[in-house]
Amino acid sequence: MTRNVLSIEQAATGYGKMEIVHGVSIEVREGGVTALVGGNGAGKTTLMLMLAGLLPVTAGRLRLDGADITQTRSDERVEAGIALVPEGRKIFPNLTVHENLRLGAVTARARHNWQERLAEMHTLFPRLQERRNQAAGTLSGGEQQMLAIARGLMSRPRVLLLDEPTLGLAPIMARHVFDTIRELNRSGLTILLAEQDTRSTLKVADFAHVIENGHVALSGPSQQLADNPRIRQAYLGL
Ligand code: ATP
Repeated sequence: MTRNVLSIEQAATGYGKMEIVHGVSIEVREGGVTALVGGNGAGKTTLMLMLAGLLPVTAGRLRLDGADITQTRSDERVEAGIALVPEGRKIFPNLTVHENLRLGAVTARARHNWQERLAEMHTLFPRLQERRNQAAGTLSGGEQQMLAIARGLMSRPRVLLLDEPTLGLAPIMARHVFDTIRELNRSGLTILLAEQDTRSTLKVADFAHVIENGHVALSGPSQQLADNPRIRQAYLGL
């Protein structure tokens, strides 16, 4: 049986007194791509920020490999193996590509052999090697997204949280990002992906959850959701 790396159990979060995510339960299976789909403002980003420890868990529990991390600080969660690639990339525009990647090797397990990890990133993203001395802010949108993903991977995570990685990208670059996700997953990486591009997301994910108004409205194997008449109408425009 496949293990769950990350378990979200009836978890709630929000901003101040305003609860945005209400009692959500989601399992992230080891070696899989689990997806969160849903429209603008559904609460996907808020949920991701909670998982990274950047918003408090106001109800319920989070577990990483079975250990309770509900109260664990964000830096400790990175150390424990959760890496967030945030919406909007959030790279350091004035630092070089190399410096951005170097900063990603924040965990103890990544620090001592960061050069080896950097070489892996260069193999995975040859463009980042070509541009290693260029200011990150001068990269194209797609290249910046690759850099954000590579920076997240530098920490050697157990689970990679990808928030809207194709937002604002040209279709060809978006396709490249989805290909990268597939490739990373084939290499064994566990991924939780939040996306508005439901069609492409259901193709790359094993299992998906539809988030609406801070709730899980529907869950199932991706193929099953892609065939669901409500999903086809509301999210696939069919
Ligand atoms: P999107 O794809 O547009 O980012 P999303 O599903 O990720 O959508 P969230 O960004 O999580 O949605 O937003 C969920 C709700 O939380 C929205 O109603 C939004 O207005 C609200 N929200 C987001 N950030 C804040 C904030 N800093 N303070 C208060 N409310 C916020």
